[in-house]
Amino acid sequence: MASQDEVRNFLAHWFQLGKPIVLAEGRGEYLPDPIFQNGRYSQSFEDCWHRVMVTSGQDCYLKGTSQSIAAMLSPAWDVTPCARCEMPIVMPTAGTMTELCPCNDLSTWPSTEVPMPRTAVDNQHHLTELRQRLNMVPGKPAANP
Ligand SMILES: [Zn+2]
Repeated sequence: MASQDEVRNFLAHWFQLGKPIVLAEGRGEYLPDPIFQNGRYSQSFEDCWHRVMVTSGQDCYLKGTSQSIAAMLSPAWDVTPCARCEMPIVMPTAGTMTELCPCNDLSTWPSTEVPMPRTAVDNQHHLTELRQRLNMVPGKPAANP
């Protein structure tokens, strides 16, 4: 079973390759732009996720795949890296994979010329951690008297 975080991470990776999500109830396709902002998911991404969650992911799926987001969040499916391109893909928890990774219909992927999609990096959190670590250095005077 994939967690919401895993599904969001899965979507963020594919969005970076230009694959939109198809929304339920004929609401069309959605491709957030930008996907990340200030080291976290952008407002556009959160809007997109909200639109998906309106139907609890029911009938919403990444273009080119057939598992709905709701199915991905069910115990029958897992998110794992594709053997061919290392992108996150949806796999049945039991049984065998019957479908190809969405990279199958991306003529430009895998490619060594485009940067590998990444996960959101929380810079602020990273900085705070770094600052805390620096403050723990023995012999360093306290920042504030
Ligand atoms: Zn793949």
